[in-house]
Amino acid sequence: MNLPLITRAEAHNKKTAIIADTGVFTYQDLLQASGQIAANLLQNTADLQEQRVAFLIPSGFEYVATQWGIWRAGGIAVPLCISHPRPELEYVITNSGASILITHPQFEEILHPIAIEHNLRFILTSETLPDHLVSLPEIDINRRALILYTSGTTGKPKGVVTTHQNIQAQVTSLITAWEWKSSDRILHVLPLHHIHGIINVLTCALWAGAECYMLSKFDAEVVWNCICEGDLTLFMAVPTIYVKLIAAWENATAERQQSMTAGCKKMRLMVSGSAALPVQVLEKWQTISGHFLLERYGMTEIGMALSNSLHGQRYAGYVGQPLPQVEVKLVDESGELVPSGTPGEIQVKSPGVFLEYWQNPEATAKTFKDGWFCTGDLAVVENGNYRILGRMSVDIIKTGGYKVSALEIEEALRNHPDIQECAVVGVADPEWGERVCAALVLHPQRQLTLESFRSWAKEQLAVYKVPTKILTVAELPRNAMGKVTKPAVVELFRAD
Ligand code: AMP
Repeated sequence: MNLPLITRAEAHNKKTAIIADTGVFTYQDLLQASGQIAANLLQNTADLQEQRVAFLIPSGFEYVATQWGIWRAGGIAVPLCISHPRPELEYVITNSGASILITHPQFEEILHPIAIEHNLRFILTSETLPDHLVSLPEIDINRRALILYTSGTTGKPKGVVTTHQNIQAQVTSLITAWEWKSSDRILHVLPLHHIHGIINVLTCALWAGAECYMLSKFDAEVVWNCICEGDLTLFMAVPTIYVKLIAAWENATAERQQSMTAGCKKMRLMVSGSAALPVQVLEKWQTISGHFLLERYGMTEIGMALSNSLHGQRYAGYVGQPLPQVEVKLVDESGELVPSGTPGEIQVKSPGVFLEYWQNPEATAKTFKDGWFCTGDLAVVENGNYRILGRMSVDIIKTGGYKVSALEIEEALRNHPDIQECAVVGVADPEWGERVCAALVLHPQRQLTLESFRSWAKEQLAVYKVPTKILTVAELPRNAMGKVTKPAVVELFRAD
């Protein structure tokens, strides 16, 4: 039996799968190219037997054909991040124990020396592929498929291993909840080393037999051009992308704004996730696009767990309810269920939950309790909907005996007329345990003293939540996904 993703692609055959800078490709093209890539990977062996194949390819047809080729040859796909510097790439390559490295010629200079140093088979995507057919191995869906590297709050990134079956569960849950159809057309603007871009957008689209327009990099004007053309049905992004799209809309002429808005209105669904969506961004996007963004919550280790409903009422600041096939519970420190209205750690059980951290059984064992994955995120249920309070390790600040949520404080601070962006962290302090500190990006030509800031904030927040230290910065430290890296924010205060 073939992998279900492949069998389904065979049924879609002549239908368009991918539209990219390099052309328009059908499902048949994808099957053909991935078959050739698999043959090239296999050489004279029958099955890669879960060998790790690391690859660095910009978003587009070659990326997908390579990922499928690795899977069809029986390998584990290890996607690398195109914006990472050499040490980070080398860490992922060596930690995963990759034996083969595939790269687009654009990255040859950086990756070839790594391949030589670690004695890896090195393949360029520009190489001519074998055109003879070879028989490909049968892949049991319980085999490992993918390793995605995810940063914890401390230590080096860990490799999150998902099986084909985990991926299938993650994808089918979203297909059901968001009613993906083969008539859907989605614009792909996300990085392809992260679950959001790989599972929620790319694999869901290809599972559904839909069309995926892949942009090799994010550019707000290019994205708006695609939206203006008006034949997309779906769009999914992280909050920072919506912020950039809003800025571009605001700078456009009235006529262009109308066309941008009209393009959005033709879509059936726009989704935000991977980080908290500020309510102001949600509201602004609603006036621009007519869409009340569907916010969802998930994690590399579990896939998506919570989502606002497709057809029902959505609430700003909430991530809705558990997705199909996903069980979610909130527990206190002793593992007891908390009642509605009381914050608790999110724990998840579902067939989409990952298999293990790569070669790290201690870390894997630590994150499971009685078969439930402990996310380390705190949430509360209010009126039947989940509200995310943040990561227990960095976003839950223990100050003067109170526990406060950085996300909640950030939401309030964004209402200050001079504040454009902010990140709230707890910094170790002998007097408070942790001191609430806020890194602020101000609107151009604005200034803010701690005194005036605090007197404003005290009108919005309980006094123990009001930051006692502020730092004005030109921009917040962010990772390749556009998420604020809180440990780096803490460092800013330590260095100050
Ligand atoms: P990643 O594994 O990189 O996708 O990061 C997962 C983490 O992102 C979660 O553990 C949450 O802390 C955070 N996250 C994801 N979605 C949301 C959301 N809608 N609101 C707040 N935080 C989120």
